[in-house]
Amino acid sequence: GPTRRAGAVASLRHIKNPSKVARIVMEQTDHVLLVGPGALRFAEMHGFERMNLHTPESRIAWLRWKARTAPNWAPGLDSPDWKEKAASLLDPSLSEVEKSRILAWADEVAAHPVTGTINCLAVNEKGEISGTTTTSGLSWKIAGRVGDSPIIGAGLYVDNDVGAAGSTGRGEENIKVSGGHTIVEMMRKGMSPTDACLEALSRIARNYNSDKTRLSKFYVVFYALNKD
Ligand code: ASP
Repeated sequence: GPTRRAGAVASLRHIKNPSKVARIVMEQTDHVLLVGPGALRFAEMHGFERMNLHTPESRIAWLRWKARTAPNWAPGLDSPDWKEKAASLLDPSLSEVEKSRILAWADEVAAHPVTGTINCLAVNEKGEISGTTTTSGLSWKIAGRVGDSPIIGAGLYVDNDVGAAGSTGRGEENIKVSGGHTIVEMMRKGMSPTDACLEALSRIARNYNSDKTRLSKFYVVFYALNKD
């Protein structure tokens, strides 16, 4: 944005608002990206509280996912129904209807893992642009996996002279085309935000030779804002 600075954190556990930590990296350090335990230590040094961000519901969903994907973790033939076991993790004061709703939800998200990324781009009346992308990343990934969201130039890119772009969806695909940067560069050449986003998407499609079967297995959404 107008300051031409950037900051990010990645692989940061136990902190509720990582974008606020990223802002401190930007404003108070000489670095751009902190990751993993170092990022956590940095956050705690700046007063962020280390929290357990799991809920009984998210734990059940994870157990359900693990049982679906890892054969040795699936219930045995003579095991009680997974729902019985999972229900024991829930607050006993919940109604039966509420417990069933949570178990149905866990089953659904284990089959179709949810995401929750937010990309936010803003331009003020002076034409100054800023942006942030914040996420919990893909559900149940390998520890240490970093998506596109904290990568400046992929999940977010801002050039105060031109515009800004960001993304949600399968970060791996976006990193491979540096989507945020690509879109801003296309807008610099005169493309509309929509056409610039389509150009970045077409680069992702090209990486799979436009094979619709493989492309249908993931999604990427781009967001763009120009100075106007
Ligand atoms: N882009 C995020 C990532 O790859 C995930 C998401 O948007 O849901 O980590």
